Amino acid sequence: MTRPSAAMRRDVVRRAGNRCEYCLIHQDDAASRLQVDHAIAEKHGGATTLDNLALSCLPCNRRKASDIAANDPETSALTRLFNPRLQSWVDHFRITGPRIVGLTEGRTTVAFLQLNSPERVLEREELISAGRFPADRPIASWPSQNRRRADHISPLARPLLRPDFPFADVGPSTVGLTSEGSLPGG
Ligand SMILES: [Zn+2]
Repeated sequence: MTRPSAAMRRDVVRRAGNRCEYCLIHQDDAASRLQVDHAIAEKHGGATTLDNLALSCLPCNRRKASDIAANDPETSALTRLFNPRLQSWVDHFRITGPRIVGLTEGRTTVAFLQLNSPERVLEREELISAGRFPADRPIASWPSQNRRRADHISPLARPLLRPDFPFADVGPSTVGLTSEGSLPGG
């Protein structure tokens, strides 16, 4: 595997707001160092360039490995896994309490990466009680309520209020950006 340079890693980390771009766990809450993942694995022709790299926690990265598609748990149709460089998180997932709910294609990724395994749900419950993970509202419904809710969640979780999260601020491939400016609190 081609290793991304240190500079590339910094850009990937910054763009992702230092969160896993699949399950959204923050580096500060992850058990091990977040990894730079090839959205499309090299063996499938993916390049080691910013527009093919994503930040991933160890559990998500282990599950995903070099796969790019899997069977939809409801229809069994072969479905592409979520690609953070080509797709917007909020179009494919919702957060409901401690669970990440996949919408249409997203549900294949939820199932394949086991985003709602008992230990991951437990971990999110703990983060929610510590005020470090959003709890009760789908991110997509937040923009109109940003200001009210922003007072009630931790500064670390505030980037999640952005409607375009996790597409933050750098990189030629950034998609879904709005005109709202940079991440609150950096
Ligand atoms: Zn993850």
